[in-house]
Amino acid sequence: MVTNIPETKFVTTHRISCDGGEGALGHPRIWLRIPEHQGWIECPYCDCRFILTATENVQITMRKKSTEESRKSTTEK
Ligand SMILES: [Zn+2]
Repeated sequence: MVTNIPETKFVTTHRISCDGGEGALGHPRIWLRIPEHQGWIECPYCDCRFILTATENVQITMRKKSTEESRKSTTEK
């Protein structure tokens, strides 16, 4: 059972907050700003990594998913 693996979260805004989630990893809520040139940031408390999904930086990673989503939203509109 591994408990110390940093979590990876996908976010869509540069400004995010982290409180470490539930349990032992919890910490006071802080706000982080993802550097645009970097596209991700790690929480200094819990090492959770926040990856920005809505920028060119991570377009490759999320390409498949965003293609599906844009097709869906086009249909709905
Ligand atoms: Zn955190």
